[in-house]
Amino acid sequence: MEDWNLSPAPESASHIQLKKQYDLFINGTFQKPNSKKYFATINPATEEIIAEVAEANVKDVDSAMKAAAEAHKTWSKLSGAERGKYIYRIARMIQEKSREFAVIETLDGGKPIRESRDIDVPLAAAHFFYYAGWADKLDYAFPMRKPQSLGVAAQIIPWNFPLLMAAWKIAPALACGNTVVLKPAETTPLTALKLAEVIQEAGLPAGVVNIITGAGSTGAEMCAHPIPNKLAFTGSTEVGKLVYKAALNGNKKLTLELGGKAANIVFDDAAIEAAVEGIINGIYFNQGHVCCAGSRLFVQETVYDEVLAKLKKRMDMLIVGDPMDKNTDIGAINSKNQLQTIERYLKIGKEEGAEIYQPTCKLPKKGNWCPPTLFTNVAQSNRIAQEEIFGPVLAIQTFRTIEEVIDKANNTPYGLSAGVWTDKGSKIFQLTKALKAGVVWANTYNKFDPTSPFGGYKESGFGREGGIHGLEAYLKFED
Ligand code: NAD
Repeated sequence: MEDWNLSPAPESASHIQLKKQYDLFINGTFQKPNSKKYFATINPATEEIIAEVAEANVKDVDSAMKAAAEAHKTWSKLSGAERGKYIYRIARMIQEKSREFAVIETLDGGKPIRESRDIDVPLAAAHFFYYAGWADKLDYAFPMRKPQSLGVAAQIIPWNFPLLMAAWKIAPALACGNTVVLKPAETTPLTALKLAEVIQEAGLPAGVVNIITGAGSTGAEMCAHPIPNKLAFTGSTEVGKLVYKAALNGNKKLTLELGGKAANIVFDDAAIEAAVEGIINGIYFNQGHVCCAGSRLFVQETVYDEVLAKLKKRMDMLIVGDPMDKNTDIGAINSKNQLQTIERYLKIGKEEGAEIYQPTCKLPKKGNWCPPTLFTNVAQSNRIAQEEIFGPVLAIQTFRTIEEVIDKANNTPYGLSAGVWTDKGSKIFQLTKALKAGVVWANTYNKFDPTSPFGGYKESGFGREGGIHGLEAYLKFED
């Protein structure tokens, strides 16, 4: 490996304020759980317990839903401009506390501080700013359609972008006049609880936002509860199917943001150095815990050797380790469970006959780590090319013609995202039409913006978050 001799540049955690124990944020206050149970949230880089977090049971879920229903009576009657003021306030407070949010996100989830600081937290604030701006303009967004709030939204999010996913869910719901009960994932509850403190400090009327913690059973209770008019779920396709059934049974409006297995396609006329950066960013960003990760790479045969050589060289330079170090590129795998899943797929890949490449890197003794990995000699039918691994693992295949790569790229149950690298605008347009994916990036990857809708096809779910489309998911219309 090329030795960059970078000195450690650790971010400090001395400025953050965390409680030892967190209760449930219901009706504007932190309340002890009826269950009387708490569970630990663990730093995946050190295996230390950071805090104890309440586990909400069926009665706690019921209290949160009732608080949200009561709050909806007044929140939905406030003018859009008034609602917008509160949402702006949340956005500004996230910005003010951005360093604290970034550090907590990294401690709780294992992602590099550079990413929490430069991507997760600024984007979360941007979502609140963006939807604050829509709150008094709903009639212009949907002219002649008389948009109205739905009521209570039950929102369940995963662990890969905890604060950002909370922002994606809460901001449009509030802008449209709904109230919410949100549950973060059990391994990363802390930034959502910090957000609850911000919401309290912002003076939001009690019950408009309720944040409850717990694992899958808490989520299932939320979906089965009669009060919510809307279920918004981001997570695995497997759990998404259960949420779908609950929505059907309860006649609730639904959005599902599920898994993915994106194709990242490199043509021989692409700017190869830029494409290599895009491949690295596409799969190793956030340890590959990204629903839209470019986990299947398709390289045109004529440039395969060049791309592979440059890719391996670039992988050798990636710094894996302490997520709190500002130089770190790849942090800790979010949980022991997830590490086991990834390791299982590494074994499957080898057994399927694919060839593995991992740079040699010194990994810390404690914590959950997986070096950046790629597989070559991958067949279309291999499980590592078909199933979502949700880790830093890339499966590489080649192609000769545009028709061949379209067929291969679409040969997946998922349809969330894709990337195209080429010098030719005509190819980009041909592919964006032909690829069955909610988002197609051209000559870039993993670019997110609150104004741009995001969502999937097929087993990646339905409904859109972000942009004007994200409002529609939280409204009903008279037409
Ligand atoms: P998961 O489905 O296991 O959990 C997601 C959330 O659902 C957690 O809060 C969990 O506690 C809750 N949950 C678990 N069982 C439940 C049940 N029976 N009923 C209701 N809620 C339940 O997913 P995960 O492992 O936390 O996240 C990874 C998955 O999320 C990946 O598949 C990834 O692709 C997907 N994801 C999708 C998007 C998107 O926008 N499409 C974004 C981020 C993550």
